[in-house]
Amino acid sequence: MSDNKNLLPVVKEHYGRMRNYIDGEFVESTSDRAGDVINPATAEVIATVPLSTKDEVTTAVDAAQDIFEEWRETPPNIRVQPIFRLKTLFEKHYEELARIVTQEHGKAIDEARGSVRRMVDNLEFACGIPSLMMGENLEDGAAPGIDEEYIRQPLGVFAAVAPFNFPAMVPFWFWPSAVACGNTFVVKPSEQVPITMNRIYEIIDDAGFPPGVINMVHGDKEAVDTLLDDDRVQGISFVGSTPIARYIYERAAANGKRVQCQGGAKNFLTVMPDANLSACMPNIVSSCLGNTGQRCLAGAVLVLVGDNADAMVDQIVAAAKEMTVGNGLDETVQMGPLAAKRHYDRVVAMIDAGAAEDNNLRLDGRGVRVEGYENGYFVGPTVFDHCDPKSSLIQEEIFGPVISIVRVPDLDAAIELANSSRYGNASSIYTSSGKAARQYRYHVRGGNIGINIGVPAPMAYFPFGGYKESFFGDLHGQGKDGINFFTERKVVITRWM
Ligand code: NAD
Repeated sequence: MSDNKNLLPVVKEHYGRMRNYIDGEFVESTSDRAGDVINPATAEVIATVPLSTKDEVTTAVDAAQDIFEEWRETPPNIRVQPIFRLKTLFEKHYEELARIVTQEHGKAIDEARGSVRRMVDNLEFACGIPSLMMGENLEDGAAPGIDEEYIRQPLGVFAAVAPFNFPAMVPFWFWPSAVACGNTFVVKPSEQVPITMNRIYEIIDDAGFPPGVINMVHGDKEAVDTLLDDDRVQGISFVGSTPIARYIYERAAANGKRVQCQGGAKNFLTVMPDANLSACMPNIVSSCLGNTGQRCLAGAVLVLVGDNADAMVDQIVAAAKEMTVGNGLDETVQMGPLAAKRHYDRVVAMIDAGAAEDNNLRLDGRGVRVEGYENGYFVGPTVFDHCDPKSSLIQEEIFGPVISIVRVPDLDAAIELANSSRYGNASSIYTSSGKAARQYRYHVRGGNIGINIGVPAPMAYFPFGGYKESFFGDLHGQGKDGINFFTERKVVITRWM
């Protein structure tokens, strides 16, 4: 446990009531529904979030729709100028934003810094839109004297709906590319962690976007359903749990929209007998326990191949025990609390169920106490060994600091196990064999594969998305997939008489 000697000061004790950002103005919501925003390290209320009404969301879409034609006619090299300015502004506010992320989400401060960096990476990518958005042409492409080309055009209003686990980064997988391509945008942050995005919009307000190009509404299902049902919204990018991803995919598609929905995950890490275990151990432990297991790319199931598993398990348990749990604002802390009481209760219930199912509980993180933070939602590193592949520990997403170990005889069995999951977000192999690594990459059905890397998070210029129930749609977020999602390709065939 940490002794909090290195605690960074909080940015603010209380952030008041969050406001929507519509048509270039911050506006108070008139909704009579609201939620508390809670610092999970202390269980104190640090803000209030309005749950916006249908009319308020519609007003945001009105603003985005009204400016769309003017924005799309703005040349791409001019459209990216506010994005360049925003990058500079975010560099200035980098530490402040990271600290707000930790205050409202709980994650260790270095994790928060990393997530703000990934957010800025997506702005940098979008600044290349004048090149990225180019079409292609071919002289005499149709017949002698008849040239053929395609151009890319923006579609109109897009929206993103975000999860709680990365309060800053996730909407940036989408909106910078969308807006740089000439679309306009509405972001709906997670109502659990709205403060970071509120602060981000205060900074966006200084970047010089024309009013209406980029909007934000706080809210819950009512706000999301309004976006899903508004005919003017051309497409939805969603990140969150699988049941809601599926719901949003179906409803958006039924309403004729483009839709990309990133869902839940259960990621398998396979450790081969030839892996350099001591070199890989920090990577394995940080994959499973970093961000307190609340990453969609977190390792959750550790698949140990071969006869040496007992020794490996001892090393894993020893390394997990070393993790420092505490307030994420303490520089020495490696694992903060879980992000919410509801989530804490769920993770503890899943550990209870795992223990009741006869899996071998080697390290129990329940009941962990952090001095000075007795009300915080802390669960310590937890390790189950000899897990039954059919148990809830292997089948269900826990989204907490729980490592579930399965032992298998060979690589084929490890691949079969990973592929038996209904999820397919990420999977990693630790090995010193190129042949084993290639086999894993070739056969495992997952959107992100790590080879001696436990969190295979694609950079902004690569597509990000899973397979199976981890993703609904076809074009993934980020990279060129994002450009395709946010533009329509129009073919023009020309003959001059
Ligand atoms: P969630 O599905 O509960 O909520 C996500 C968003 O959907 C929120 O903005 C919420 O307001 C909205 N929402 C919730 N219920 C809704 C409903 N009934 N109708 C319409 N909208 C609704 O997810 P969460 O708990 O915030 O996030 C955790 C989940 O996100 C985990 O399952 C995690 O794996 C997943 N996740 C996936 C990725 C990925 O890239 N695949 C990345 C981050 C998180």
